[in-house]
Amino acid sequence: MPRNLLEKNFKHGRSLLIRLDHGSDMIAEMTEIARSLEIVTGVFNAIGALSSAELGYYDQVKNEYDKIAVEEPAELVSCSGNISVRDGQPFVHAHVVLADRGGKILGGHLMKGCVFAAEVCLQELLGSPLVRVHDPTTGLKLWGEE
Ligand code: ZN
Repeated sequence: MPRNLLEKNFKHGRSLLIRLDHGSDMIAEMTEIARSLEIVTGVFNAIGALSSAELGYYDQVKNEYDKIAVEEPAELVSCSGNISVRDGQPFVHAHVVLADRGGKILGGHLMKGCVFAAEVCLQELLGSPLVRVHDPTTGLKLWGEE
């Protein structure tokens, strides 16, 4: 078994289909949904359209995010994300693939995304909460043991 394998078994909780509010920030909205529904662990995907976004590219040498501003409306071709616990609070981690008017795609870690329309499929996972802890190798807060 790999030394760093973190394996946890979860049971499926609620399966939810959610329409996000027009004009909301996708990360803030998903965080608020997790908080209000008391979901501490889950996975989700989404499709729709964003009116603007800020993406991140993690510089693996500097161990920090470079920001990519998306100033124009884009199709939300795909969004994959998860919810776990960071600093005692539900934390939403999401990556997106966006497409412009010509169908060209751009992707990355979603830092902000202004929702034009978004349909989310959220799967709650039940079990001992999945917690993020600082990982010295990457500089990120990754799933681990407290
Ligand atoms: Zn990420």
